[in-house]
Amino acid sequence: MASLKLKHVYKVYNGGVRAVNDFNLDIKDKSFVVLVGPSGCGKSTTLRMIAGLETITSGQLYIDNVLVNDMESKNRDIAMVFQSYALYPHMTVYQNMGFSLKLRHEKSAVIKEKVLKAAEILEISDLLDRKPKELSGGQRQRVALGRAIVRDAQVFLLDEPLSNLDAKLRVQMRTEITKLHDKLETTFIYVTHDQTEAMTMGDVIVVMNKGFIQQADAPVTLFEDPANLFVATFLGSPQMNIIKAKLFEKGNKIGARLEDNDNNIVYFKDETIKQIKNSHLDLEKEYLFGVRPDHISISDKGIKGHVEAVEQLGDETIIYTKIEGHKNNVVIKSPLLTNVNVKDDVNLDISMDRVYLFDKASEHSLIGMPSYNKIPCHIEGDSIKIGEDTSILLDDEYRSHLLAGAYEAERHLMFKPEYVEFESAPTNRLVKVKVDFIEERTNYNIVFSNVKGEEAYFIFRANKDREIKSGDELDIYLPLDKIYIADKNDDSYYSREIVFPNVARAKVTTKDGKSKVTIAKGETLIYDDLGVEDGEYNFVLKQDKCEVVFSRKVAKDIKEEVNRHVEKGQCLTVSCYDEEPQHKMNTIFAKIKGFEEYVTLTVKNNFSVYKMPKFKVVISKDAFELIKPDAVEQIAEETQEKIESEKNR
Ligand code: ADP
Ligand code: MG
Repeated sequence: MASLKLKHVYKVYNGGVRAVNDFNLDIKDKSFVVLVGPSGCGKSTTLRMIAGLETITSGQLYIDNVLVNDMESKNRDIAMVFQSYALYPHMTVYQNMGFSLKLRHEKSAVIKEKVLKAAEILEISDLLDRKPKELSGGQRQRVALGRAIVRDAQVFLLDEPLSNLDAKLRVQMRTEITKLHDKLETTFIYVTHDQTEAMTMGDVIVVMNKGFIQQADAPVTLFEDPANLFVATFLGSPQMNIIKAKLFEKGNKIGARLEDNDNNIVYFKDETIKQIKNSHLDLEKEYLFGVRPDHISISDKGIKGHVEAVEQLGDETIIYTKIEGHKNNVVIKSPLLTNVNVKDDVNLDISMDRVYLFDKASEHSLIGMPSYNKIPCHIEGDSIKIGEDTSILLDDEYRSHLLAGAYEAERHLMFKPEYVEFESAPTNRLVKVKVDFIEERTNYNIVFSNVKGEEAYFIFRANKDREIKSGDELDIYLPLDKIYIADKNDDSYYSREIVFPNVARAKVTTKDGKSKVTIAKGETLIYDDLGVEDGEYNFVLKQDKCEVVFSRKVAKDIKEEVNRHVEKGQCLTVSCYDEEPQHKMNTIFAKIKGFEEYVTLTVKNNFSVYKMPKFKVVISKDAFELIKPDAVEQIAEETQEKIESEKNR
């Protein structure tokens, strides 16, 4: 039995392949978690890091709240089952199952008891004397499971254990593994590329693509509220129909013209219109309209279609239709035996309360539960301000993680709908909202609400037993450690690491029109007369104004110019140890000689410090400030006073 927590876990292989990026997941004790995604998306790498077979490049892995990054694999109390069963061919089933215990010098009576018990659970008691070559594929897989069971491990890791079995056996073993999980009452983490396997086995499914978690939630939630096009089309069979669409306004209605064709027009329901407007309606833009085959029926009204193929599957019928302008078939799944034939002209009636809309560029879902709430805000003093009178007071801890750009212009407050709390706590902050409307889902209701003076919705989940209705005024609470500040690209100004001001002591001397800035215990920079008195200063490096000098190879890799025009005496040497890559920018944490704390720099995201951990940065005149030391102390004092008075208020 064990719970696991992965926090900002990254894996970068030698050679720079970013196999896993910013993997965050809480795994509850005794749960069955499935990692699913196409080949190469980082599933096995994640599992191997949990097992301790692969080092974690950065981030933390906790098992039962103990940090285990540096704990050896054999001490982690984990059992692993691989796709290739890896049985010893010369040993019997009994010996194979007992081998790990024998290596640990267990008494043979103990080994016998454990092997027999595991064999009983797996119903292979009569096979114990056989060698692997005398077993079927399914039986071998059972022995592999048996080897894991005898170890009484707290966590079971299974990496595509069924992919070597034929289809029928796979379905059967699926149920057996689910039963095994119930019997053993341990935590299972199961990897597969098969969406049906994932949907039928997991309590929680983690959908991965290209090294990133796309969404992690209960199967029904992933099905009802996919966060993006990838999740929407990866899960569900037959796949969701995706059709290009232009939106238009008619009176107070909004409709979609599928494939921009006048024959393919549907109108959204009022609540959906509000959601589309909330995610920014653009009548010029092309969107992707989505509807699952289950939510289209053949009727006497709706879009005109032509039947191209019909598959009668007994209890259901799959109908492949053609609509005007759309290259692919629109697929319909009908629960009944339908009296529809090839070449029929039919009408497609789309359930408009079960449709999806995706942004074509970002592929984010624009209807239903968003992955993030994105509320316009700005930071004023110590608080986040929203609308007319909503103010979220930040604490020291939060502020020490803010990057410099957070205070500029308009920003967005970002938080996931599932992080909203309903009880006050020292670590969260009250927000008063008014409910506009509710959308019902299988596991919860989605609440769309506003604060005074701001149109953007605060969207969150509420349990079905909470009676919330349109017009209600509610107190909700946002946990400070789960919110962050971002710009319009969703690039975060909140860093996982504490952000210190980049300060070094420096001596400035000006002679013959040249100013020399000598950083104490560090390098010397030379500029045209800076126009300051000679003397001691605090040299404050601006986070976002330093330009990386790329090596020839790296420059070619990331398609950037080699900066050839670096003036001598205007560079500092940087040694990096970590980074936080985002959409457009990459925050890097580094050492520069002479600086009191580590330095935080933001650069373009195409550059990874793993490609070049040590490099030079160009320090132009406007990349730094010189502040008299007493001025710095004064600022620090003023800030401290402000914090104190805020606390006393
Ligand atoms: P999955 O299990 O989802 O198919 P993996 O975790 O095996 O994916 O691989 C993720 C990515 O990391 C792939 O691009 C793969 O080529 C790469 N990779 C896996 N193992 C190594 C390794 N030992 N060295 C370098 N790259 C690797
Ligand atoms: Mg794999």
